[in-house]
Amino acid sequence: MLKTKDIVDEKNKILRTVSKEVTFPMSKEDLNTIDLMIEYLTNSQIEEKAEKYDLRPGMGLAAIQLGIPKRYLTIVHEVDDGIFDNYVIVNPKIVSSSLEKIYVEDGEGCLSINRETCGIVPRYARITVEGYDTEGRKIQIRAREELAIAFQHEIDHLNGILFIDHIDKNNPYKDKDKYRPI
Ligand code: ZN
Repeated sequence: MLKTKDIVDEKNKILRTVSKEVTFPMSKEDLNTIDLMIEYLTNSQIEEKAEKYDLRPGMGLAAIQLGIPKRYLTIVHEVDDGIFDNYVIVNPKIVSSSLEKIYVEDGEGCLSINRETCGIVPRYARITVEGYDTEGRKIQIRAREELAIAFQHEIDHLNGILFIDHIDKNNPYKDKDKYRPI
């Protein structure tokens, strides 16, 4: 079982690595890591479990956040009370995006960033992501709103980018009116 301490903190430069494409078949180790990521993300969003295992809540993890520089990520999206959709995508690419941009009004968060941050991170409101499932079959995912933000956030991790990089330090709320808060 993954613990919060297993997640790499922003102080660790490995998070700045551009992760490498995955080749198939995936290793047993990577497949096991994916299961652990999903388990962590799911438990972290269930209050009793998060408390019991001392987990920080989060909906997405990229492999690099566990120190693995490979292009895969997982997202666990709570669609209804206690109902979760799991997404696993390998070698993902955003193939189309909306003109409209949105941002998380309360501020974006990251399991690797353990401090208060402020500012706007503009993200596409709707995207289509293409990539592969764990068996190497091509998949396409359409995402909007919160889920679209999660995909953009995690794909950034694969390129060594953190959400704080998108915030203008001198003017964290710059161009606020251009984007829709969610
Ligand atoms: Zn993150």
